[in-house]
Amino acid sequence: MNAMSLGDDLALIQGGLPHTGAPQKVIIVGAGMAGLVAADLLLKAGHDPIVLEAQQRVGGRIYTMREPFTHGLHAEAGAMRIPRAHALTMAYIEKFGLPTADFTMGNPNNFVHFDGVKRRMAEVAANPHLLPFDVSLNESGKTAAQLWDEALRPVTDMIERGGWADVYAYYDQYSVREFLEDVNGWSEGAIEMFGLLFNQESLMNSSFLELLREEAGGYYTNMVYLTQGTDSLPRAFMPALCDRIRFGAKMTAIDQDPASVTVHYQTLAGRRSITGDRAILTVPFPVLRHVEVLKPFTRAKQRAIRQLKYDASAKIFLQCRRRFWEQDEDITGGGTTTDLAVRNLYYPEHGRETGRGVLLASYTWSEDAQRWGSLTEHDRLSQAIENVAQIHPQILEEFEVGASWMWHDDEFAGGAFALFDPGQQTQLHDHIIAPEGRIHFAGEHASLSHAWIQGAIESGLRSAREVHRA
Ligand code: FAD
Repeated sequence: MNAMSLGDDLALIQGGLPHTGAPQKVIIVGAGMAGLVAADLLLKAGHDPIVLEAQQRVGGRIYTMREPFTHGLHAEAGAMRIPRAHALTMAYIEKFGLPTADFTMGNPNNFVHFDGVKRRMAEVAANPHLLPFDVSLNESGKTAAQLWDEALRPVTDMIERGGWADVYAYYDQYSVREFLEDVNGWSEGAIEMFGLLFNQESLMNSSFLELLREEAGGYYTNMVYLTQGTDSLPRAFMPALCDRIRFGAKMTAIDQDPASVTVHYQTLAGRRSITGDRAILTVPFPVLRHVEVLKPFTRAKQRAIRQLKYDASAKIFLQCRRRFWEQDEDITGGGTTTDLAVRNLYYPEHGRETGRGVLLASYTWSEDAQRWGSLTEHDRLSQAIENVAQIHPQILEEFEVGASWMWHDDEFAGGAFALFDPGQQTQLHDHIIAPEGRIHFAGEHASLSHAWIQGAIESGLRSAREVHRA
């Protein structure tokens, strides 16, 4: 398998694959971004792709909820922001001419709500003593951002000197907590401050490399959102692919022999199967664990499918009759950080023309998210309102309707996204992406840009190339 450069990938998005003289029938399972990208490229190169999609819509973990919101409002249950540094995602957005606007991340007017006290982010940044964390003497007076910059510098220097290979070899063994505690000698207070303010508390035991890639790439510093909803991106593939997608078709088993691949799938009308020359599986590995593999995969692939760690994620939305955070508190965009169960609130910038807004009242990961999943929808909304009221009492008057989405409880996701445990990049990555005979693997988990659309696109491009060359 040849590693392709970013330039090669961009050229592929712009120019496509060369037209084939040996068309193949390719069964692609999943109409998320990875499946759509692969199907589009293969179709335009003269192949015969058929996409099986278990749900009734394209996009998968790009899920713009338009119900139960009124007045043309929507909420992003999945992907909501795109780093400008994600050149592949931006290339598709430009190719389809989709309208974007700046996504605000850090807003000094946002709040930090800790230990029952609410303060503006700017106030806390200017005076770290305001936050009562038990930091050591040498950390005292430094902000979490200053401490983090100091810790990261030797690693970013190493990337600049020798590229990523050395960094991967050395740091893959560390979790975020181990990097802070063992490598940098941070106090428990500093770790707590960083975890809370950088929204990393629930991800402390994940591989440090996952966080490093985001930080070194500056993902969170310069972002956009799709003004018509993130689903405008997968929907843009529909004119080319709509005749190629079979909705409501859930893969239940897969088989292959030296000449073909057969995918068995279930619809409400009964069981069906389809045979082709090759298959590309884009479904997340937690889903694949429940698919019968009639000709067993290699031991290494089975281990990767079993062991790859997925994170949980929950989002809770509250539609408000008035954008009180803008009108009363001078907050336009960004997020508020709390130690409450809701953890992180985000203030949407879309929908301003309606006068109303859908507050992302809670965005959580890992353990923080699991607990929301065990509550009823009613209790999720009422507890989120109770938490939000501690920061914005106006919510009690202005709340209209709400909704929530638990990715770890979603049958067709089985988790929010792949997130390596320490050591998993070295142990599993090559086995995750390797083809098994005539079966190829794509999806964000089959890239090193986990949890981003960019990873799904990159893997879709790679799998289309593999099939085209085969
Ligand atoms: P998916 O989108 O999951 O596609 C897989 C498809 O397979 C789905 O359509 C599913 O229905 C289908 N399927 C599953 N099982 C079967 C079966 N048995 N048979 C047939 N079909 C099946 N990325 C960003 O760039 N920016 C963000 O802000 C961002 N935020 C995120 C927030 C959350 C909460 C989550 C969950 C993800 C976020 N992401 C974000 C990541 C991004 O959404 C994903 O990386 C990307 O959409 C994954 O695409 P995919 O094609 O790999 O998988």
